[in-house]
Amino acid sequence: MSRFAYHIPILGYHRVGDLKGDHVPTVSRAAFGRQLTWLARRRFRIISLEEVASRLDESRSMPRRCAVLTFDDGYEETCTVAWPLLKRFGFPAAVFVTPAEVGLPGFATWEQVARMARDGMTIGSHTMHHSYLPLVSEERLMEELVESKRLIEQRIGRAVDFLSYPVGGFTPQAQAVIQQAGYRAACTTNRAVSRATLDRYALRRIKVTERDAHPLLLWAKVCGYYDAFRQLNQPH
Ligand SMILES: [Zn+2]
Repeated sequence: MSRFAYHIPILGYHRVGDLKGDHVPTVSRAAFGRQLTWLARRRFRIISLEEVASRLDESRSMPRRCAVLTFDDGYEETCTVAWPLLKRFGFPAAVFVTPAEVGLPGFATWEQVARMARDGMTIGSHTMHHSYLPLVSEERLMEELVESKRLIEQRIGRAVDFLSYPVGGFTPQAQAVIQQAGYRAACTTNRAVSRATLDRYALRRIKVTERDAHPLLLWAKVCGYYDAFRQLNQPH
């Protein structure tokens, strides 16, 4: 079986909106709009993480020409800029929030997070404190992974089934804890080691940047060529 057989293009965004000169990877509203327009025109089927998990449960392959849209950190603009555009296109998406940061300046409030959840956005956990899990002690793992899930569920009144590892960092122990806690899948970055079979607790994502408003670059990323190129150029 080809090592790319299980490729699911999961696009990873952070902030969509005005460039603020900080370190947050940001895609402008205009570039984001062009990316969504491109996906729609090329008839990509945007599927939810729930659909990915269900297909994994049933050992079904992913649909052709599909992609998944995810947003880390829960910035205010995910609610005010990205979500209205996604709705206009009818695209599902997931946002991963960090309870310790919800409501802080620049981040969405619980009211906004709950509104997005009611409106159909998948809300996932991005750990309690945006912690880099390989450096977290065993007892704190429970708070970061299990307590964050429970707290978000309480706030939005819905199940939290997905997690995104801050900075993509995870360990086998963290994976065991989230599996035990009932998460259906977890997303990392493109750091994860590729395996012959797909690891649902280490779904690799493609980072989308402002430059990807260029259709060819986005096409290469979504279709897996970018990924293949990266692997060819990396020591294994
Ligand atoms: Zn993050």
